[in-house]
Amino acid sequence: MPLHVVCPHCHTTNRVPSERLGEAPDCGRCHRPLFTGKPISLTTADFDRHAGKSDVPLLVDFWAPWCGPCRMMAPAFEQAAGQLEPRFRLAKVNTEDEQMLGRRYGIRSIPTLALFAGGREIARQAGAMGAADIVRWAQSVVR
Ligand code: ZN
Repeated sequence: MPLHVVCPHCHTTNRVPSERLGEAPDCGRCHRPLFTGKPISLTTADFDRHAGKSDVPLLVDFWAPWCGPCRMMAPAFEQAAGQLEPRFRLAKVNTEDEQMLGRRYGIRSIPTLALFAGGREIARQAGAMGAADIVRWAQSVVR
């Protein structure tokens, strides 16, 4: 079964056989790795493609530069990306730059983690978490 995976660099939707997901696949268009083990930054322009066109669940960290707990959680979120990819795509949305996305999803406190699958939000968790808790939470939602 091919999975749709959106490239974090050029945002092209790739078809990757599910059994090859763990073999460090490259993007068919820009030839860069589809998974880098690091969270990607999403803007309003890219967000819908990654949330809606990908078969890989998208775990989003809604944050802002002025938020201390957000900055404290950043290394944990990055560490979680290394453990959760390629089963999940981890992304960060700067709610100060992308205010429309924060409003659309009614983000009232940051940091907030939201998990998207098939274009809709399936779980949300507010407040800073450590890497192990992020990994455990994501895996408990999508088995
Ligand atoms: Zn690409």
